[in-house]
Amino acid sequence: MTDWTVHTAGSTREEVACARCSGAAYLTATIPHPGWDSPVGRRFAGSRTIALCPRCDAHDPASQGLLAYFAIHGEVTADTADTFAVLVRAWVSAPRPTGVDPRVLDREIEAWHRDPNNPE
Ligand SMILES: [Zn+2]
Repeated sequence: MTDWTVHTAGSTREEVACARCSGAAYLTATIPHPGWDSPVGRRFAGSRTIALCPRCDAHDPASQGLLAYFAIHGEVTADTADTFAVLVRAWVSAPRPTGVDPRVLDREIEAWHRDPNNPE
């Protein structure tokens, strides 16, 4: 049994968007989040959504196989579904940070303040 789901741009009527750059992503996957313990000791667990974005993930080694797949095939078809399954399984299984990187957060806050479309 799989504990994650994948949505490609062609599998829904909605465009799959990247939360990092708002551009079109190739796919999103809902994967389990390891969770956290509350101050009173209650365990919270859930899921989170990750996106495969041709811009944001261009330099991510774990994304290279799937990015190459979409560059070559463009979409998932019956003829290439087995290859896609192997690549997406490897991508979903790649280690990812689960916490907040304060340096990344500071950069994103600074970028938000520089954007004239955001309120002060
Ligand atoms: Zn992106």
